[in-house]
Amino acid sequence: MTEPVIIGGGPAGSAAAIELARAGRQATLIERTVTATDKVCGDFLSAEAVSRIEALGIDLTDAPPIDTLRLIYRRQAVQTKLPFTARGLSRRALDEALLRQARAAGASVLRGHRVSTVEGCGAALQVLSRSLGEIVTDTVFLATGKHELRSDARRARRSELVGLKMYYRPAPSQRLALRRHIELMLLPGGYAGLQLIERDSAVLCVLLPAACLSAAGGRWARLVDLLGQDCPHLADRLSGAETLLDRPLAIANLPYGYVCRARRDHRNGLYRLGDQAAVIPSFTGDGVALALASGSLAARVWLNGDGSDTYQRRFAHDVSVQMRSAVAVHRLVLARVWRPWLMTVCGVWPGVMGLVARQTRIAALTDGGYAL
Ligand SMILES: Cc1cc2nc3c(=O)[nH]c(=O)nc-3n(C[C@H](O)[C@H](O)[C@H](O)COP(=O)(O)OP(=O)(O)OC[C@H]3O[C@@H](n4cnc5c(N)ncnc54)[C@H](O)[C@@H]3O)c2cc1C
Repeated sequence: MTEPVIIGGGPAGSAAAIELARAGRQATLIERTVTATDKVCGDFLSAEAVSRIEALGIDLTDAPPIDTLRLIYRRQAVQTKLPFTARGLSRRALDEALLRQARAAGASVLRGHRVSTVEGCGAALQVLSRSLGEIVTDTVFLATGKHELRSDARRARRSELVGLKMYYRPAPSQRLALRRHIELMLLPGGYAGLQLIERDSAVLCVLLPAACLSAAGGRWARLVDLLGQDCPHLADRLSGAETLLDRPLAIANLPYGYVCRARRDHRNGLYRLGDQAAVIPSFTGDGVALALASGSLAARVWLNGDGSDTYQRRFAHDVSVQMRSAVAVHRLVLARVWRPWLMTVCGVWPGVMGLVARQTRIAALTDGGYAL
């Protein structure tokens, strides 16, 4: 049996590499970026993500705690305590810390190499990269996140929403108002999350129909102005804030609700991790937790001698209830007609937001009973 090749050094790939290295295996992780990069993500680390990251040996004390959810629609705001404490940390910081940890645990981390395809080669798999050449292995952990390999694109329906992210240094009064809060703002055709992260910065991550961006002429400042007219709360939060990136990060074609099912023709050595295994709607802030959980589970299934069909079936089973709930809430939140009703219900019974937050995460995931 050859050692696994992990493609992608996001949370899923790094979690798998750390688990394998800790079990004494010499996994190779290939990541296309050379240095730390920003990623489109709300930077919200759910309680599940926090406990998994800490278990992987990373200290999160610099990441501000978040224990209150504030839901905002136009001038209305309702808030509730979350049933857990989350944290805010930039993906640049998180992903680098995980990669460092993978290296320290003994994994071989190769940076600056893009894998182009994974092809079947007899009973083995052939990983091709222009800079690394050809690697033949029994096992590939595919953890390329949103990015598809030409040979292994996910077959899934894509959302028409576009994800955009910007970092800010908020004015002191707004920073104070944001302390311990995640603010979820309902915007025309989409929504946005705003929260603090490390070093007194804040992250705004919005999900909108592409038409909104076109209406703003593709300009971020204009878009934020337009959104602020619909949601004065957002305009207040950003007044006096300094933008920290030259331009927003963007992503499109998100296959929300996608879950990879084990197929009969599935190559038994190809394990799909993270967003390659399941894509949860963004408002849940649980994608990183899912990615970490999948990486850990895949490593354990492989160490146990089981194939990717066992892993893929197990993972799909464990996330199915959470995914169905998250997709239903995502649709409800996007439908403008329901929003006044939603705000009334949440105003009368704020605890319902905590219930939804609990229902749309992976508390039930148990690493499939696979212990190291
Ligand atoms: C708008 C938006 C907001 C979100 N907000 C949150 C949030 O607040 N909290 C949360 O928990 N989740 C959030 N998510 C989800 C979260 O970002 C993802 O679920 C998570 O990043 C998945 O991790 P991953 O390791 O599977 O993939 P990624 O984090 O995407 O990592 C994949 C890695 O693979 C590398 N790679 C890609 N292709 C290749 C290749 N060919 N060769 C070599 N390397 C390659 C990439 O450079 C990258 O480092 C959000 C998602 C979106 C779209």
